Amino acid sequence: MRILLVEDDPMIGESVKEWLEGDGYAVDWLQDGDSALIAVRTTSFSLVVLDLGLPGKDGIEVLKEIRAQENRIPILVTTARDTLDDRVLGLDTGADDYLVKPFDLEELSARIRALLRRSAGRADPVIVRGKLSINPSTREVIYEGKPVILSAKEYALLAALAERKGLVLSRSQLEEKLYNWDSTVGSNAIEVHIHHLRKKLSESAIKTVRGMGYVLET
Ligand code: CA
Repeated sequence: MRILLVEDDPMIGESVKEWLEGDGYAVDWLQDGDSALIAVRTTSFSLVVLDLGLPGKDGIEVLKEIRAQENRIPILVTTARDTLDDRVLGLDTGADDYLVKPFDLEELSARIRALLRRSAGRADPVIVRGKLSINPSTREVIYEGKPVILSAKEYALLAALAERKGLVLSRSQLEEKLYNWDSTVGSNAIEVHIHHLRKKLSESAIKTVRGMGYVLET
């Protein structure tokens, strides 16, 4: 899962980016509204964490423009403006949730998981796909009744494929979900992760769809 963080405060930006990367997300951090709008248009993120007080185009304008493009990406607004009006304005403008600064990073993680779950149309927090079950809050993976230990990227890849039933993702779509702009991605990185996942789960756990990409077994 890839998250766009828009935050102009360097201290907050750095700590939130680091925290979310610790949660296993690929995170791109931008500090102003105009570049955030370009990023949302050109890259497929799973969610945006958007500060409202930004230099230049502020968060409310960014929200308005994203929604005006019919983009339904989940957006969590963070704001230091702790007035009812600002929160209501944020939600009415198209935010899916908000946090008032200073916020607890654990709470940020929990709200992000809830938004991602809702945007994937799931009611149950645990994702079950055939013999596979994934718990996004603990990052526990069970396959055929046994726990499986995965690296952060292996987990992210598996979780991406499990997001929707029967979802087929190409190598480049998987790369886009797993790596941020700062990453240097080897041309066979995804194949290597798939290879390791098949070793750890089973050869049939992830199927190759010729010319299209990868899909979980059903
Ligand atoms: Ca700010």
